[in-house]
Amino acid sequence: MLDIKKIRQDFPILNREVNGKPLVYLDNAATSQTPQQVIDVIVDYYSNYNANIHRGVHSLSQEATDKYEEARLKIQHHFNAKHAYEIILTSGTTESINLVAHGFGSLLEKGDEIIVSALEHHSNIVPWQMLCEKTGATLKVIPMTQEGELDMSTYADLLSAKTKLVFVNHISNALGTINPIESIIEQAHKAGAAVLLDGAQACPHIKPDVQALDVDFYVTSAHKICGPTGVGMLYGKQEWLEKLPPYQGGGEMIATVSFEKTTYAGLPHKFEAGTPNICGGIAFGAALDYMNAIGFDTIAAYENELLDYATQELLKIEGLKIYGTSKNKTSVISFNLEGIHPYDVGTLLDKMGIAVRTGHHCAQPIMAFYNIPGTIRASFAFYNTKAEVEALITGVKKAKMMLS
Ligand SMILES: *Cc1c(COP(=O)(O)O)cnc(C)c1O
Repeated sequence: MLDIKKIRQDFPILNREVNGKPLVYLDNAATSQTPQQVIDVIVDYYSNYNANIHRGVHSLSQEATDKYEEARLKIQHHFNAKHAYEIILTSGTTESINLVAHGFGSLLEKGDEIIVSALEHHSNIVPWQMLCEKTGATLKVIPMTQEGELDMSTYADLLSAKTKLVFVNHISNALGTINPIESIIEQAHKAGAAVLLDGAQACPHIKPDVQALDVDFYVTSAHKICGPTGVGMLYGKQEWLEKLPPYQGGGEMIATVSFEKTTYAGLPHKFEAGTPNICGGIAFGAALDYMNAIGFDTIAAYENELLDYATQELLKIEGLKIYGTSKNKTSVISFNLEGIHPYDVGTLLDKMGIAVRTGHHCAQPIMAFYNIPGTIRASFAFYNTKAEVEALITGVKKAKMMLS
């Protein structure tokens, strides 16, 4: 059981008011809030041992390096990677994806194919389009169904010996659908293709095991799992990370430099050019500690209760339509009120202190599929309460009355 009172005390921001009303924060799919335990780690870093890492003999630098590498180990253990050097610390999901896309630039040839899904975030579409332009490879798209699920029979048809890489999100940020990743990975491997999973939306709810999944690449951002912005990770199987060329040149990623020839450092440093987000990396580790102490099974069970309750109550509102009705989904609800623009509802909810996301959620192809400009998206975290769900329901009813 989750001790919600105690948990809410960990998040100072949940005590504030917005527009004279208590904050009801239901935009967790965009970014999560930060517990005091993680804030303390950030303050401690800048107060006590701020120094550059991997390059000083002095004590502060050693201390910062140790803490940073300790964070890498925490991330390794969390995702059950075989080796710590298979964890590359990046600025987030977007950079991790671009790193892999850049690397595949030197592995692909004209005629090769990349498969992505119709449920992707823009950060998962654009890098592959750029890669295809550069290499002459072709982009294929797994279509989606009305329920917001992937059409798996078309996926099977799209796979062939030409497929080099399959890229899907583990969970859709716009609809909350949990994709059948085990089957996606297994079928891709049979065709000889590598798989990259975007876990940005999955990691707040699920603890993925990259070895059990046998996935080739897995990426995520810390800021959706109670950590700071501007830091995230790329997990890659050693064999793949060795195959990919470095992403950026700079300090830290080299072994030797001369004007005749530069040799690159080994993993993970080959992909970590320049001074990283040191404090962010350490805080990322602390955020995983925080969430693991609560437990992902506990978190998921609690969030599912909120999801079921909110879904049931929202559907009682006449003219309200939910997009993304997969049985297998996380605590994200995308919806619209008939004849009312989502932006207007979002603006009124904000006046009531309720933070939701409105718009296309960086997933315009999904909105085009449903033929809508956008949705109102409420996304719940383990620190939200049933009372907050009730505030949302009341707010939506009020907004409907005012706007129709
Ligand atoms: C948030 C999100 C991203 C982008 O993450 P950044 O931290 O902005 O790089 C990518 N994919 C999904 C599914 C997301 O939810």
